[in-house]
Amino acid sequence: MLPVVALVGRPNVGKSTLFNRLTRTRDALVADFPGLTRDRKYGQANYDGYQFIVIDTGGIEGNEEGIDLHMAKQSLQAIDEADIVLFMVDAREGVTAADIALADHLRRQDKSVWVVANKIDGLDADSAVADFYQLGLGEVYHIAAAHGRGVQQLLQRTLEPLRDTYPDVITPPKEERDEDEDTLVRQAEYYADQPIKIAIVGRPNVGKSTLTNRLLGEERVVVFDMPGTTRDSIYIDMERDDQKYVIIDTAGVRKRGRIDLAVEKFSVIKTLQAIEDANVVMLVIDARDQISDQDLSLLGFALNAGRSIVITVNKWDGLEQDAKDWLKQELDRRLGFVDFARIHFISALHGTNVGHLFGSVQEAYKSATQRVGTAQLTQIMDMAQDEHQPPLVRGRRVKLKYAHAGGYNPPLVVIHGNQVKSLPNTYKRYLMNYFRKALKVMGTPIKVEFREGA
Ligand code: GDP
Ligand code: GDP
Repeated sequence: MLPVVALVGRPNVGKSTLFNRLTRTRDALVADFPGLTRDRKYGQANYDGYQFIVIDTGGIEGNEEGIDLHMAKQSLQAIDEADIVLFMVDAREGVTAADIALADHLRRQDKSVWVVANKIDGLDADSAVADFYQLGLGEVYHIAAAHGRGVQQLLQRTLEPLRDTYPDVITPPKEERDEDEDTLVRQAEYYADQPIKIAIVGRPNVGKSTLTNRLLGEERVVVFDMPGTTRDSIYIDMERDDQKYVIIDTAGVRKRGRIDLAVEKFSVIKTLQAIEDANVVMLVIDARDQISDQDLSLLGFALNAGRSIVITVNKWDGLEQDAKDWLKQELDRRLGFVDFARIHFISALHGTNVGHLFGSVQEAYKSATQRVGTAQLTQIMDMAQDEHQPPLVRGRRVKLKYAHAGGYNPPLVVIHGNQVKSLPNTYKRYLMNYFRKALKVMGTPIKVEFREGA
């Protein structure tokens, strides 16, 4: 699990700038879900050895009334779900009335709040931040989000205290994640023995609760109640054909037939945490809707997290043939970037094709965690090389020497050779696809890494 950091502050203080720097991406998950009107962005931050979920809450002034107040409250829900709040202010403007109103609100929350004075570039830091101590929120940090100045120190100071609760906040150094044969063998054995954790995710009303009940209903179910907040999913153990599973239920199906208990069903943070914690992400799409940007964002998030993916297109019952054909075309067109994932057309309501989902889940999990030895990987690499020689780089032929496994979830193949870093992307992609086919890897992304020399 990753900690959640919320960026809060009035418009124009630099929240998006910091968000983009932390996530290094512009395609964040934008929460344009029904019922959540204000523009909020969610992303996975991976910065200077730290990883966490970051929310840009959009602008809040702190003095909203009427409909604005309603929307601001929803943004404040994001604060509620966060572990820490970075309260951003503009060092060039000094303290404003809106800052004070927002500070009053934040002081009343039971949260770690850190004041961050942005746009420090070209200013004298000490005198620029002095003004902000009157907000009464303790120490004031200073950064220049646009240039990255101070960001590393800020993360260190604010995230370090979370290490005990969230060990994953520190990105493990690369060397620890791969190479060692014994570790890889032990890990594969461990995975083979574990229940498969499936996160059922998707937009509100696509049929997640119905599907979860259907998956559980077919077999023996052990439901245990875990107290939790709105951002916590429910974990349900189940077994089918001698395989143990844990269903991570983001929709809030607490007990079979008691869906009424599921208040506050949908939360983006809950969904993202569930993806982080799962082995296999089961994305539910509503066949009666367009494929939305949120669907793509959720897939993108799962992909970034290296999770296996199974796609279910739900509410397939009673659709006209035209609609079915059109949707299939759309899936081809828009889901090309996850072409390794199986797509199932199901009706959770009637139970049609639901049983097949387990096969794809097992296949994806196995693909992500199976042990492949150095000899086999090198042999596949040689076959690929024989069929298509690597191209010349600066007049010399790139030479691939050997391949070995580097890790799981997603499976990593490490190739050693001469000048391998200069291989064109087309050839790298060719190798990746070759490994995918040869190893029959389905449902999970596969990574190929290149190392210079032996
Ligand atoms: P948001 O509304 O809080 O998300 O603010 P933005 O990230 O959109 O930034 C508002 C403006 O401040 C933009 O013009 C940014 O280029 C500028 N800005 C952001 N960070 C910095 C900074 O560190 N230094 C300076 N000088 N300008 C910045
Ligand atoms: P959630 O918000 O994603 O958990 O969605 P629900 O499971 O609560 O379902 C939302 C609505 O879609 C309910 O009215 C369900 O009865 C309906 N629904 C779910 N699955 C299907 C399906 O396969 N076919 C049809 N026609 N309706 C469905």
